[in-house]
Amino acid sequence: MSDESLEQLRAEIDSLNLELLHLLNRRAELALQIGQRKAELGLAAFDPTRESAMLEQILENNRGPFPDAAIQSLFKEVFKASLDLMNKRHRQSLLVSRWCRRDNTVVEVGGVRLGADLGVLIAGPCSVEGVEQLEEVAAHLARRGVRLIRGGAFKPRTSPYSFQGLGQQALTMLSQVARRHGLAVVTEVLDPRDLEVVLECADVLQIGARNMFNYPLLQEVGRTRTPILLKRSFQATLEELLLSAEHVMSQGNDQVILCERGIRTFERWTRSTLDISAVPLLKQESHLPVVVDVSHAAGRRDILAPLARAALAAGADGLMLEVHSNPAVALSDGEQQLDLPGFDRLLESLGLPGPG
Ligand code: PEP
Ligand code: MN
Repeated sequence: MSDESLEQLRAEIDSLNLELLHLLNRRAELALQIGQRKAELGLAAFDPTRESAMLEQILENNRGPFPDAAIQSLFKEVFKASLDLMNKRHRQSLLVSRWCRRDNTVVEVGGVRLGADLGVLIAGPCSVEGVEQLEEVAAHLARRGVRLIRGGAFKPRTSPYSFQGLGQQALTMLSQVARRHGLAVVTEVLDPRDLEVVLECADVLQIGARNMFNYPLLQEVGRTRTPILLKRSFQATLEELLLSAEHVMSQGNDQVILCERGIRTFERWTRSTLDISAVPLLKQESHLPVVVDVSHAAGRRDILAPLARAALAAGADGLMLEVHSNPAVALSDGEQQLDLPGFDRLLESLGLPGPG
């Protein structure tokens, strides 16, 4: 074969490559259109029946020299790439997606801006146990420049026989004490039937880890205009967390704060495993502010300071910390709550001494 004819064949291959490239991209465009239509109709992107029908038709028409097996694996790659593209495009079209909204969502509450300010702190007891306890913690937090107090009134306890929270009574205490100290309240709503009373007290409605998959509750709080702190379930993927946030946003409430609070793994030395990679991934995929609850992740107080530093270093907008005036007698989560001097030491280790 002369060099000239070799060059000619090579030129033909080059032009076929470009033709294939063009055809593949044209096919991808069509797949995206199909994906969009399917999403509008509520259908799944992947349709195995359609895929095997297409493969069958392709193989029936295969005249070689590629054997059927080679053609099959080539086309399967094309199908997979198209499906990946459809799923990616669908993810990017969600309200929670960074591609849908480039700028950070900023949730302004209690004089702080989550998503804009650095190292916002949400601190307070696991459960509201009484006015004295709350007053002591609130006064201390206010002195340290904290603006958001947390405290459970309705507690999601694993055992129905454990302390369930003081309910309405706790909400009244929270409102009064927080007002006295100029703090905003973050408290959990467990049940849509309590929403009205919780709304009277809460500046931020917390959806607990156990309720991340409770779609009717998510949609109910989505119809309010109160900021939502949405905690990741200990068994949820990040995609599932974002889809839960989408449930809230789809009802018109775009004031959603995502909260990583540890996931369940085989590790037993911590209560949960803090998934630190969740922080940069959520910031990358979504415009919503991200807070890390180190207390529930660790389940112990001795490693909270390094976890808090890690969370902030990874890009978290804020931290949630459980702080109690006397953790030894706490009615819930005593092992992980910081006492007041412990809280001060943690602040110092973060380089956030506050104005106190
Ligand atoms: C809480 O923050 O009070 C709580 C119960 O945490 P989680 O829902 O993350 O377990
Ligand atoms: Mn707790």
